[in-house]
Amino acid sequence: MILQPRDVGWIEVICGPMFSGKTEELIRRLTRANYARQTVQIFKPGIDDRYEAEAVVSHSQRSLPGVAVEDLQALKAALDPNVEVIGIDEVQFFDQEVVSFCEELADSGRRVIVAGLDQDYRGRPFGPMPRFLSVSEYITKLMAICVRCGNPAHRSYRLAEDPQQVLVGTDEQYEARCRRCFAEGYPASSIPESELNQNSSAEQ
Ligand code: ADP
Ligand code: ZN
Repeated sequence: MILQPRDVGWIEVICGPMFSGKTEELIRRLTRANYARQTVQIFKPGIDDRYEAEAVVSHSQRSLPGVAVEDLQALKAALDPNVEVIGIDEVQFFDQEVVSFCEELADSGRRVIVAGLDQDYRGRPFGPMPRFLSVSEYITKLMAICVRCGNPAHRSYRLAEDPQQVLVGTDEQYEARCRRCFAEGYPASSIPESELNQNSSAEQ
């Protein structure tokens, strides 16, 4: 970020595929806010129980204490009304209302940092992420390294055979892939148009 606003709130989005460093970047920003003596709260969806319930942990095992919440209502209940900086990891798992709630927080002067997958395992826009990308002030799109060829990777490829969009990942179930290596697994023509638009039509 180049310019840091003063006396107003805003929303920052950190997006990209799995293993791209979204959680690390979220932890970095929140740690710096701590150094600046700002009050910070970190949330993550309860669904993401890969590592610990009371911490946000990256694939490289960096961690920061956080609160796992079942849904947006639980997040609201756990939120300190005086907190200055709010971080939400794996925000793609929340319902669409999370976007307007974060807007309210930003409108009331808070700095909101959300991190999440912008695409699901088929390359489709994930849940509330398209809206976040529209309404936020700052966007950081990270890439991982394609495990097949070493190129920058912007997609998460699911190795497991399971049609559910929400399948909480372990390192063995997903791998970061570039466009070409992703297409070798999922030729674009194999995804029906109806499925491609599934998320956006569900949001109307
Ligand atoms: P995200 O939140 O985007 O899933 P994390 O912040 O949890 O990412 O983890 C990022 C870390 O994952 C990297 O710093 C690196 O140590 C590790 N990593 C494992 N596989 C890869 C990969 N294919 N590309 C890049 N980083 C990887
Ligand atoms: Zn590749």
